[in-house]
Amino acid sequence: DVKRRPLMAGNWKMNLNHLEAIALVQKLAFSLTEKQLEEVEAAVLPPFTDIRSVQTLVDGDRLLIKYGAQDISAHASGAYTGEISGAMLAKLGCSFVTVGHSERRQYHAESDALVNAKVKAALGSDITPILCVGEGLDIREKGEHVEYTLAQLDGGLAGLTPAQVEKVVVAYEPVWAIGTGKTATPEDAQEVIGAIRAQLAKTQGESTAQAVRVLYGGSVKAGNVAAIMAQPDIDGALVGGASLDADEFTRLVRLGL
Ligand code: PEP
Repeated sequence: DVKRRPLMAGNWKMNLNHLEAIALVQKLAFSLTEKQLEEVEAAVLPPFTDIRSVQTLVDGDRLLIKYGAQDISAHASGAYTGEISGAMLAKLGCSFVTVGHSERRQYHAESDALVNAKVKAALGSDITPILCVGEGLDIREKGEHVEYTLAQLDGGLAGLTPAQVEKVVVAYEPVWAIGTGKTATPEDAQEVIGAIRAQLAKTQGESTAQAVRVLYGGSVKAGNVAAIMAQPDIDGALVGGASLDADEFTRLVRLGL
């Protein structure tokens, strides 16, 4: 059996200024031990404007907490007003970037083709893309959640080699469970995440499928994470609201094993 290191990633969304960001990361650093952070990878994903401050704190105190961004440009540089490139994020020490979060697919009309280009941009800058996939309520009610999610998976990974796919983290986030307080049951999450791993085995080969970490996201809290982590194919969580509270996110990381 392959041992995949658990990952707990906190998506702050559009919350916290750079001073609040420093305060939150300082609290996390105070309460998480090095041993815990060696066992469970913990990352925060602040808004772009906070990343430099988080970098200074993490570097200065040699923290084992990782950090990253919530979006990345598909382009390398040039006339793309308002965008942030992979090279810029890499220079700031970002380890991760979420790509294709449902809020970006929904409010910024991000297509699978654009998401795929962003996954490639992240890999090209040695940043781990966290490829977000998952169905809305209408799709789930029609019983098409597995095929819908697998199509997003295939679209996001199009043209990558198995060696590249091994560097990707996938996050299954049913849209109806994000920010709603409605968590998928651990069995519902495992159904789709198991199907994601089976699809990876089919398209990339068994060893790649066993190496890829797949997270669950959608109203994860300290109170429900253990049952989610107990599922065989779930390797961690992408956490929104609960990652803004230092005590709650600390508990989540500790429960990540
Ligand atoms: C998310 O933003 O990826 C998320 C899962 O949010 P929440 O935990 O608040 O549902």
